[in-house]
Amino acid sequence: MTIAIIGAGLGGLALARVLHVHGIEAVVHEREASRDARGQGGMLDIHSGQRALREAGLLDQFFAIARGEGQDMRLLEPDGTLLFQEDTPDDAPPDRPEVDRADLRNLLLDSLPADTVRWGQAFTSASTDKGLVHFADGSSAPYDLLVGADGAQSRVRALLTDARPVHIGQNVVEVGIPDIDRTHPDLAAMLGRGNYWVLGNGMSLAAQRNGDGRVRIGISFYDTAEDWFATSGIPFDDPAAARERLIDLLPGWDSRFTALIAACDDTIVPRAIFTLPAGLTWPSTPGVTLLGDAAHLMPPVGEGANMALLDGALLGLALAAHPDDFSAAVEEYEREMFERTGAAARMSARMQDLLTSPDAARKMLAFFQG
Ligand SMILES: Cc1cc2nc3c(=O)[nH]c(=O)nc-3n(C[C@H](O)[C@H](O)[C@H](O)COP(=O)(O)OP(=O)(O)OC[C@H]3O[C@@H](n4cnc5c(N)ncnc54)[C@H](O)[C@@H]3O)c2cc1C
Repeated sequence: MTIAIIGAGLGGLALARVLHVHGIEAVVHEREASRDARGQGGMLDIHSGQRALREAGLLDQFFAIARGEGQDMRLLEPDGTLLFQEDTPDDAPPDRPEVDRADLRNLLLDSLPADTVRWGQAFTSASTDKGLVHFADGSSAPYDLLVGADGAQSRVRALLTDARPVHIGQNVVEVGIPDIDRTHPDLAAMLGRGNYWVLGNGMSLAAQRNGDGRVRIGISFYDTAEDWFATSGIPFDDPAAARERLIDLLPGWDSRFTALIAACDDTIVPRAIFTLPAGLTWPSTPGVTLLGDAAHLMPPVGEGANMALLDGALLGLALAAHPDDFSAAVEEYEREMFERTGAAARMSARMQDLLTSPDAARKMLAFFQG
């Protein structure tokens, strides 16, 4: 019985690893040509997803690469008022440590037999009657169970539901400062070791230190249209002019925040934010299922990676419990997954409402204090 997993992201790899721990080998078909074919993103805070890493037998190795001090929090208003600061004591329990997405993905990749991931295989379609998946290079592979772990823009999803991700009125410009301790020690001290948030006026600035010393900064514009990047006047092909325009788009913001943007390098990435409807379900269908963002794309407020890891681990456990009955395993997995991730999606939507409200910083302060 062949389990074909589409996508070597966190969810797909967690599934492959838990199956491997239980003596079941799967094949992971990944679109990218290699593990380093593109940048693997920034920091993730891993909380409920720790259970998945325990099931994968990787929890100790996870704590070795995670950063407890990444839990530090500073919350400010655009005029520079510091509303909240929390520094993590050295002996604090690692409830929500931060981890570099690339490090976590490498931990999962290195825990699998070498031929598990087939790189450069971009899924295009499936012949469900023949049990075949087809790839962009014209090749095909057999499956008995097909698992779509192919992320936000999943192509496997269409086999189960007509639902499509919808833009939620948030557009993020991602910038960053490399090697900040050496290049801008004053700004490094201002940001601290963990999360630095400025909220207000329908915008937010979220800065976070990554494992490699780079600070990634996401500037979000809320209540903006799907085509906002085209109308924003940000010249993405001219980084210096793009930084100037970004500063213009933050009128009245304290000069320390605009200094952060001025110090950024030339990597400027636009990211429009989409979600699937909270609580999306589909009738259980023998031979196909989804996990992670393919199943439940949520606002980016800290649940997506945790849910993807849990999906992968719990589907792996269900398959290990019913090795001769994939349909029963998938039904059991989907029942729990729909309930758990529906609740997480609704909670994420409430957090998103809070972030986009006019007095976001004060509401967030009340949330932290509560
Ligand atoms: C490169 C990258 C960087 C990211 N950076 C961040 C970040 O900084 N912060 C954050 O909060 N979240 C980030 N995310 C998203 C975050 O990892 C996911 O929201 C979360 O981990 C859910 O995991 P997932 O396994 O469902 O999907 P993902 O982790 O997105 O993995 C999906 C995988 O499927 C592959 N894939 C897609 N289409 C196909 C196809 N047709 N055929 C084969 N393979 C396919 C992708 O290449 C990817 O490896 C990033 C995702 C990616 C892919």
